[in-house]
Amino acid sequence: MLITHVAAELAPIAKVGGLGDVIYGLSKELVREGHLVNIILPKYDTLPSALLNNLHVEIPELTTSLGKCKIWAAKVENLSLTLIDPIEKNYFSRGKIYGCSDDTERFLFLCASAVAYLASSKKKVDALHLHDWHTALIAALKKEKKELDSIKTVLTLHNIEYQGECDPKLLAKMGLKKEEPNLLKIGIIYADALTTVSPTYEKEIQTPIAGWELDQLLQKNRGKLKGILNGIDPEFWNPETDSYLFKQYAIDSPIETILKEKKANRNQLPLERSDKPLVACITRLVPQKGPELIKHALLRTLEKGGQFILLGGAGSKEIVQKFTELKQQFAKNKNLSIALTQDEPLAHRIFAAADLLIIPSLFEPCGLTQLIAMRYGTIPIARKTGGLADTVFDIDTSDQPLEKRNGFTFDFADNEGVNWALDRAFSYYKQDKNKWHTLIQNGLSHNFTWKKSVHEYLNLYQKTN
Ligand code: ADP
Repeated sequence: MLITHVAAELAPIAKVGGLGDVIYGLSKELVREGHLVNIILPKYDTLPSALLNNLHVEIPELTTSLGKCKIWAAKVENLSLTLIDPIEKNYFSRGKIYGCSDDTERFLFLCASAVAYLASSKKKVDALHLHDWHTALIAALKKEKKELDSIKTVLTLHNIEYQGECDPKLLAKMGLKKEEPNLLKIGIIYADALTTVSPTYEKEIQTPIAGWELDQLLQKNRGKLKGILNGIDPEFWNPETDSYLFKQYAIDSPIETILKEKKANRNQLPLERSDKPLVACITRLVPQKGPELIKHALLRTLEKGGQFILLGGAGSKEIVQKFTELKQQFAKNKNLSIALTQDEPLAHRIFAAADLLIIPSLFEPCGLTQLIAMRYGTIPIARKTGGLADTVFDIDTSDQPLEKRNGFTFDFADNEGVNWALDRAFSYYKQDKNKWHTLIQNGLSHNFTWKKSVHEYLNLYQKTN
């Protein structure tokens, strides 16, 4: 099959959060299964040219409903890319992927260009896979193009908080006069199939509490909606080959070796050398991730005699400001390290070094950091919501068999919940090494790859075909 993704992110060349990891990991697995994959992406000025192979112009000028663009082709590893480069506007030369006042206009341009490109292309696309509000509109736009009639669309909802409210005039320009100016809503209505990134999130988004006012529309469309759990790419996230690490380690080594190598990685972090439990948090600093609870976990960890490291990026101004103040307040404390930046190599080093990773999200469609943590022998502490509830099983309270229990969970997004999970983690760390090792080993043998989920996607592509 030829599967075409259209997306705003692709790891490692254009990544802000999990969306980039998912497009990369799913595409790599589809290629491993013998399929062809093409990814249509903006030609951001931030794309690292060293990682783009055979970059060349495919179409010098293509007319779209929103202006002209140039089409480039390139390869990243074994993935084929089609890069959209606006000719008259500087939509994708902003030094960043998101966060511009005209974001909706920028991604509408991506949609218009992708449709124009697909209509002009001779390639027979078997499935067109759209991701989030940035590309959801394509499901409606393609209905207007006869050449694209036979192509079916799958829209994946990675996070329905972000919906892409847009100017109705822009939609009218694109031939969509009657639609409500909410790009995700339009995509939900027009896509042939809908997926979201975990079975629990699939249920949650059909309720008013987690539906962001889309719950009724999603209920109406539940016949075409399916929760498929995300995975992580086992090569990109592999402590045995990860070139960002100070010390690599094979996860099938004896537990003592793994712990020794993790310690070697830890000794390189800006923290006092110690045997105290090291709790980490690697996150975008937005309300969804529970910043107040992250702060609480940080303070509680210090109070209980542990060390804490926070890597917080892509955040809202107010939240970043609060953590900047906290960092100043604790500037002399060698048991705490706070880095307020987006830093891929540092993220890998922290996953390798930490004992525990805390994810106190208010909601979490799937979450990848718990999966990455387990792959690096780090035990997750997670709020039981969305994909976290589908992948992290509490050592004491889960109804899963003992060999599947891989972390600590708590139900409610409050300080008591964090304390309950964190305190138990500390007491096992100090008093029950056997249980601690079992948790690490259960995490390491957790299936976090795309192996199973890729078949669920392939079934869907075949069905919609
Ligand atoms: P989301 O997509 O909501 O941000 P996920 O858990 O699905 O959350 O994915 C987060 C991805 O982004 C992971 O690969 C994680 O390592 C990475 N990440 C999060 N914050 C940072 C940061 N500050 N620096 C580098 N990588 C980060």
